[in-house]
Amino acid sequence: MRLRNKPWAKEKIAAYPQYVIPNPEEYKGRWNELFGNDHPIHIEIGTGKGKFITEIAKANPNINYIGIELYPSVLVSALDKLIANELPNLRLLNVNAKDLTNFFAEGEIERIYLNFSDPWPKKRHEKRRLTYRSFLELYEKVLVDEGEIHFKTDNQGFFEYSLVSFSQYGLVLTYVSLDLHNSDFEGNIMTEYEEKFSAKGNRIYRCEVKYPP
Ligand code: SAM
Repeated sequence: MRLRNKPWAKEKIAAYPQYVIPNPEEYKGRWNELFGNDHPIHIEIGTGKGKFITEIAKANPNINYIGIELYPSVLVSALDKLIANELPNLRLLNVNAKDLTNFFAEGEIERIYLNFSDPWPKKRHEKRRLTYRSFLELYEKVLVDEGEIHFKTDNQGFFEYSLVSFSQYGLVLTYVSLDLHNSDFEGNIMTEYEEKFSAKGNRIYRCEVKYPP
């Protein structure tokens, strides 16, 4: 993600605490109170500018969504989309996914989306990959039994690495496509990166995995 310096981003985010929750620790174990219902919660880690999470929340009013993004200068674009759409089933968090267990209780999340996560191709950066074992451990702590990860990327090497990482962790592969846009998968919602890289002719890889019971 190319970062433009937007010194006003933090201020804008702070002005919309109803959309970008400023104190997510306080909702650990009680997100359904915030949403006002018992619908399942799906999160996206690395939401970026928010196209995917906004469109999927619009399409599924009976699922609650939380988009997590580290950089205020990027998240502010997702916030703009949420302001424009006023979706009661979508909230945003400006936090680091490595702290996930500070914000969510055991079994509070049903599904995690990882879309075009940074591949960190250098071996010495392996631990930063969002499909590295330590992240899979974190996800397991907040997911329900048999909770799912849905993962998309255009980076073949990162996809291959992630399949091995999932497999070594004992996750069950329930869907895989090595060319999503030329597959029979229905209802795909494109992310910003997906639009950009598929327009350049890159293939999109996608899989779904679930934790064993
Ligand atoms: N998902 C979007 C898409 O497909 O268009 C954005 C993809 S971008 C390559 C990856 C995003 O993940 C960046 O915006 C980055 O800031 C965010 N990110 C990376 N590591 C993160 C972490 N540990 N916690 C939260 N966000 C993270």
